Amino acid sequence: MAEKFDAIVVGAGPSGNTAAYTLAKAGLKVLQIERGEYPGSKNVQGAILYADALERVIPDFRDDAPLERHIIEQRVWVLDDNSFVGTHYRSDDYNKPPYNRYTIIRAQFDKWFSSKVREAGALLICETTAEELVMDGKRCIGVRCDRKGGEVYADVVILADGVNSTLARKAGFHAEIDAGNVALAVKEILFMPEEVIQQRFNIKGEEGVVIELMGTVTEGMVGTGFLYTNKDSLTIGVGCMLGDFKANPLRTTPYALLEKLKKHPSVAPLIEGGEMKEYAAHLIPEGGFHAIPQVFGDGWMIVGDSGGFVNAVHREGSNLAMTTGRLAAETVIEAKAAGQEMNARTLSAYKARLDDSFVMKDLHKYRDMPQVLHTSPQFFTTYPKLVTGAAKTMFTVDGVDKKTKERQIFGSFKAARRWRGLVGDAVKLWRAFR
Ligand SMILES: Cc1cc2nc3c(=O)[nH]c(=O)nc-3n(C[C@H](O)[C@H](O)[C@H](O)COP(=O)(O)OP(=O)(O)OC[C@H]3O[C@@H](n4cnc5c(N)ncnc54)[C@H](O)[C@@H]3O)c2cc1C
Repeated sequence: MAEKFDAIVVGAGPSGNTAAYTLAKAGLKVLQIERGEYPGSKNVQGAILYADALERVIPDFRDDAPLERHIIEQRVWVLDDNSFVGTHYRSDDYNKPPYNRYTIIRAQFDKWFSSKVREAGALLICETTAEELVMDGKRCIGVRCDRKGGEVYADVVILADGVNSTLARKAGFHAEIDAGNVALAVKEILFMPEEVIQQRFNIKGEEGVVIELMGTVTEGMVGTGFLYTNKDSLTIGVGCMLGDFKANPLRTTPYALLEKLKKHPSVAPLIEGGEMKEYAAHLIPEGGFHAIPQVFGDGWMIVGDSGGFVNAVHREGSNLAMTTGRLAAETVIEAKAAGQEMNARTLSAYKARLDDSFVMKDLHKYRDMPQVLHTSPQFFTTYPKLVTGAAKTMFTVDGVDKKTKERQIFGSFKAARRWRGLVGDAVKLWRAFR
């Protein structure tokens, strides 16, 4: 009989590392399996790290984690083809430690996190793919790996294998990926001197800026773009629903869409001269609340992207990934301490924890958002043009009185959507954000 563990964690991304760390720290015997050459090697680079989720498991992470810049300013831009209307929130409160959010480079960050997991006592095996779960009837008792067809056993297996979770699909825990429930995102890292980044984004030292972008750049597809400042590089990317890419009559590829974003007159000056060294594409679960599968059963639990835990509005995928990883681990630790079996009844405490946390509360709050957006391309085409047009009308000084300008703006909204459309869209937005 092969060696048996208290828990096996499949995957060494944010969710798997948080679960494995929490379990190992509590003294459980943990095996973590990662298919990449090292943790982070398979992960898309350049991201925002939300301090709170990590702080709850490693309170002093700031001492040695590879962090790029702390975010002091959040911008949201609505683009048409040659202009944008935006909001900027910048606060000196975000410039005082402990900082709330950071940019990170995932390859470095995952490696660091994994070193903490191993220090805590977990055994990590890399370059090994978990091919399928070993089942005893309905009960999961371990994992079958590609290396020499080896089987490893545990009281509980935590699936932290990311959005494409083949393990969960093979075991029938959730269905095949639906193109309407995932986004395909592409991103690049563009290197440039630190001083140039500081000048262009009006920051100093290790301060950072995040820009979220939406509008005509996605050609009516449901999607957003983003631009993050790292120490000596920028991360720029764009993602749209996979189903929309397939249905887009323009047949624009994700890479062409990113090139289009980079050429936008409001974006191009910020990234000019950046040297592209890394390019990556990855799926993001976007189905939201209604697409979350059963996340526990006899001897198994699902955490992170594998369970589709991504909040359609604020994204924060790694935040939810780390939180679900922690909650799953705490459930196991509690059950172990009480001498309970890792069956569905015991592990249902994980779902109760999720329901009680911001994870399910936020997913529930925005439960209608995916459906509303999928049926409303006007939010990505017509409205950005109307809003930027309205700004242009108001801010252009041309001898026309303001009352007339207001009438022109109302007229443009009415002409584009009619009263019925405007009221319907307002109701849709209320439903999406209620
Ligand atoms: C372009 C893009 C930008 C993003 N930006 C942000 C951001 O700024 N902030 C944020 O919070 N989130 C962001 N996200 C989302 C975030 O990356 C994910 O939510 C997060 O990585 C999920 O963590 P995870 O551990 O569940 O999965 P992953 O990070 O995908 O980790 C899964 C791990 O499992 C391994 N694995 C998979 N299958 C197997 C197997 N069969 N056997 C062994 N190992 C396996 C993989 O190699 C991988 O290391 C972004 C995502 C994308 C695609």
